[in-house]
Amino acid sequence: MLDHARAQDLAAAAIDFDLAVDERAELDGHLAACPACRAYAGGLERDARMLAERPRAAAPERVARRITRDARPAWGARSRLAAAAVGIVVVAVVRRAIKQLLDGIVTESERRAAAANG
Ligand SMILES: [Zn+2]
Repeated sequence: MLDHARAQDLAAAAIDFDLAVDERAELDGHLAACPACRAYAGGLERDARMLAERPRAAAPERVARRITRDARPAWGARSRLAAAAVGIVVVAVVRRAIKQLLDGIVTESERRAAAANG
């Protein structure tokens, strides 16, 4: 049987998440036998319902700006991304240059072979 602290932790988790089947069964078993934890879980559910029913308000402009700013990647992350993009472009350019060089060598050797054969 769950102790009260664990039962209350599970009851709190169950507000926002689906519990594993065994955890749900343990919690339900504990709540059926423990009025204190049943009252605790009932209070959590009432609070969650009350919060969910509250009208949503837009964040003040200043707060919204800060959240938006903080959500953007920092310069370090951005410059690493830019460096990765440059690296991809450089690899593509070098590959194309090598291919053109090899094509040129093959074409030149074919031309020489054709010239040697008359
Ligand atoms: Zn209990």
